[in-house]
Amino acid sequence: MRWWLFALLWLMSFPVLGAAAQHGVVILQYHHVGDDTPRVTSITAAELEAHFAYLQEHDYQVVSLQQAQQYIASGEVPDKLVAITFDDGWRNVYDNGLAVFKRYEYPFTIFVNPQLMAETPRLYMDWEQLKELENYGATVANHSNHHQHMTWQAPDESTGEWLARQQQDVLAAQAALMHGMGSAQPRHFAYPYGEYNPELAEMLAEQDFIAFGQHSGPWGPETPLTEIPRFPASAQYANLKTLATKLASLPLPVLSHAPASMVLDAEEAADGITVQVRLKHTDDFDATQLGCFYQGERVAPKWQELTFALQLEQLPIGRSRVNCTVPSKSEPGRFYWYSVPLVRPNDVGRWPD
Ligand SMILES: [Zn+2]
Repeated sequence: MRWWLFALLWLMSFPVLGAAAQHGVVILQYHHVGDDTPRVTSITAAELEAHFAYLQEHDYQVVSLQQAQQYIASGEVPDKLVAITFDDGWRNVYDNGLAVFKRYEYPFTIFVNPQLMAETPRLYMDWEQLKELENYGATVANHSNHHQHMTWQAPDESTGEWLARQQQDVLAAQAALMHGMGSAQPRHFAYPYGEYNPELAEMLAEQDFIAFGQHSGPWGPETPLTEIPRFPASAQYANLKTLATKLASLPLPVLSHAPASMVLDAEEAADGITVQVRLKHTDDFDATQLGCFYQGERVAPKWQELTFALQLEQLPIGRSRVNCTVPSKSEPGRFYWYSVPLVRPNDVGRWPD
């Protein structure tokens, strides 16, 4: 064969001459399993089974959060990694989910509140049930001791006292996990209500935790390890069609966003705010195709080099979030996804659950 023909064939063996997509880990977040619990945080056993069957049929690799953490740390994240999480440790997860867990033996994490388990045992799984679920893939992790709004500072305490109180609560819960499960559990923390601020994130990082929120998007290499997103998969999000899009989503390469804290200044938020998101690159998508939504309304991004800005008017009191997506060039049909969580406090610094 002529050398140039050989060279041409060799060149043609590369399928895409552009940037390849960066893959991440999609984490699903559930609460209740049942049909007699608040629908907004529930999935029926049949829907859970349908989700697990979908993952199996579509060759997703379900990994534990520990395995996901290793993949992210290695910088080599294969495609189609999914992790499964349940928040609060409701008893109905055991009662209605056990048969599904037994059938698939997928790894999953249950984030529990040890103090609440002790106070209201009829609502929550006990340690024996959690240990039984360990046999079918469960890891038990920290959701704080009390499930309170962690960012709320009491009127009579200093910032230092508030942070010390939060640290004590997290560490007490971690000690209770070790005692209850009979072995040390991974330092994985899910923020109650998905609420946090930079001080809490820094405290958790210092205590060697990685931490998970409730804003959506895949976990990518640029994701801060104390702000890991998860996709809600209950209620209206249980729909397999929309879930399929999320399972196929890619992590937007975000370097930083502003405001730095999801908990906004009450006065500033009253007049609306500007959210800014700075990207590492736009190699695998067309920036003009970025679509962002807030409260069901489209918000037009204003680009300046690799940063886009979103002007938000009318923020509701309490939690809300901005979702942005943009189609991948190299993997048609798939979308990069990023979400910015926000909380607007009322004038005394509080908001509803
Ligand atoms: Zn919770």
